[in-house]
Amino acid sequence: MSTAVNAPVYLNYINGEWSAASSGQTATSISPANKHEVVGIIQVSNADDLDRAVQSAKQAQKGWRKLAGPSRGEFLYKAANAMERRLNEIAETMTREMGKTLPEAKGETARGIAILRYYAGEGMRKVGDVIPSTDADALMFTTRVPLGVVGVIAPWNFPVAIPIWKMAPALAYGNTVVLKPAQETAVTAAKIIECFAEAGFPAGVVNLITGKGSVIGQGLAEHKDVNGITFTGSNQVGKQVGQAALARGAKYQLEMGGKNPVIIAADADLDLAVEGTVSGGLRSTGQKCTATSRVIVQSEVYEAFKQKLLAKVREIKVGNGLEGETWMGPCANENQLDTVLSYIQKGIEEGAELLHGGGRPDEAALSDGFYVQPTVFDKVSRSMVIAQEEIFGPVLALIKVDTMEEAIEAANDADFGLSASIYTSSIGNLMSFIQDMDAGLVRVNAETAGVELQAPFGGMKQSSSHSREQGQAAIEFFTAIKTVFVKS
Ligand code: NAD
Repeated sequence: MSTAVNAPVYLNYINGEWSAASSGQTATSISPANKHEVVGIIQVSNADDLDRAVQSAKQAQKGWRKLAGPSRGEFLYKAANAMERRLNEIAETMTREMGKTLPEAKGETARGIAILRYYAGEGMRKVGDVIPSTDADALMFTTRVPLGVVGVIAPWNFPVAIPIWKMAPALAYGNTVVLKPAQETAVTAAKIIECFAEAGFPAGVVNLITGKGSVIGQGLAEHKDVNGITFTGSNQVGKQVGQAALARGAKYQLEMGGKNPVIIAADADLDLAVEGTVSGGLRSTGQKCTATSRVIVQSEVYEAFKQKLLAKVREIKVGNGLEGETWMGPCANENQLDTVLSYIQKGIEEGAELLHGGGRPDEAALSDGFYVQPTVFDKVSRSMVIAQEEIFGPVLALIKVDTMEEAIEAANDADFGLSASIYTSSIGNLMSFIQDMDAGLVRVNAETAGVELQAPFGGMKQSSSHSREQGQAAIEFFTAIKTVFVKS
C-alpha cells in the first residue's frame, strides 16, 4: 500500500511536455477500497496552467488540421497499440482508483482501445455530399471542417472509455484537445495520456490538465479560445457548462444523468429479466449513467420476479475489486457513499419497504473503504424521491403496475430519458415500448447498460443536450459543415 510520502507523482501534459501545476499545489488520489491507500499525487492546476494548455492546443491545431485524415488516424492506431501493451496496468490503476472490479476495468480498457481503432479508420471516410444545384454550370457540395480546440470534461465512472470516446473523434476530425478528467480518476487519465505521448502526436495536439472542476472545468467552458466543449457528468454541472459555452457562442455537448427503467412484462423470461436487472442495476456499484434504477413489474409476475431477484442479490459478494471473487466494489468516493446512504434513508422515510441491504456491509475488513450493500426497495410509488432522482448507487426500486400501458407511463414518469429496457416475449409489447418510450437508448430483452461503440449514444429530456456520441454520429458534434458553391 502506498502512502502519500512514497506515492508516485502525476503531472499535467501541456505542449508535449509533462509539467507540474504552476500553483505548486497537489492533491492525493486515494483508493475507495481503502481510504488510507494513496494511488498517486496529482496536480491542482490554476487558470494560468489552463491558459497554457489551451494556447498550446490552439497553436498545434493549425498543423493538425492540415494533416490528411488517414494520417491523423495513424496516430490513433499507435495510441491504441500503446494502450493494448499496457492494458493490465491501466485496468489495475482504474480499479485501485475508482473501485470497479478488475474484469470490468479490463473490459473498459479494451473498449477504449477498440474506440481508438474505430476512429483511426474514421479518418478515411467521407466528409461531405454533393448536392444538385439548379444551376447546371455549378458544383455544390458540403465538406466538414474541425471546430478547432475541443475541451473534454469527463466524469470518474468510466475514466478510460469516456475520455477516449470524446478525444478519439475530436482528433480524427482535425481538432486538438484539452482533457480535464475528474480529480478522482486523474491517475488513470495520466496513464491514458502516456499512451498518447508514446504514439508521438505532435506537441500540443493532446493536452491533459487536472484540477478542481470549478476552476479548470468551468475555466475550459468559459475560455474564449475553446471552440467546442464536450461534457459528461451530473445534470447540475452540465447545465452550468452549457450556459457558459452558449454565452460565448461555443459549440457544446452535454451527456448527463439517468433514472433508467426496466419493465418486466407478465410474459417475460423471468430468469433473463433477473439477470439483466441485477447486472444493469448493480454492476459498477450502480455508478453507470445507464444503470437500471426503477424496476417496473406487472402484477401477475411481481411476487415470482421479486423472489428470484432477491435470491440473486443475496449472492452478491461485495469487496475490493482487485480480488477475484468480488462481484461489486465500493462506491467511487466518500461523497458518493454518503449520497447513496442518504437516498436509502429517504426511501425508508417515504415508506418504501427495504427488502435487502440498506447500509454498509458488516465485515470489518471493509470498514476503511466506501462500501455499501446492494439494496432493494419494495412498494415504491412513482412520485417518491427514490423513484425520481438519480442515486448513482446500487439501489433498485420495485414498482408494481397492472397493464403494459401503465408500465410505459410509469417508465416515462421521470425527468431523465437516457436508457430503458423491457423484458417481454410479445411483439405487441415490444413495439409499443419502442414507439412510446422517451429514451435515447431503448433495449429489448437486454439490460439498460451497455451500448456498442459503433452505435449512437445519448439521451432525451434532461439526460442530454440531444446530440449523440460514438459511432458515425460523433462527426455531427466534432465538425462544422461548410456548404460550397462553385460556378464554372
Ligand atoms: P460531475 O458533474 O460532478 O463531474 C463531471 C466533471 O465535471 C468532472 O471532471 C468535474 O471535475 C467537472 N466539474 C465539476 N464542477 C464543474 C464546474 N463547475 N464546471 C465545469 N466542470 C466541473 O459528475 P461525476 O460525479 O464525475 O459523474 C457522475 C455523473 O455523471 C452522474 O450524474 C452520471 O449520470 C453522469 N454520467 C453521465 C453519462 C452519460 O453519458 N449520460 C456517463 C457517465 C456519467
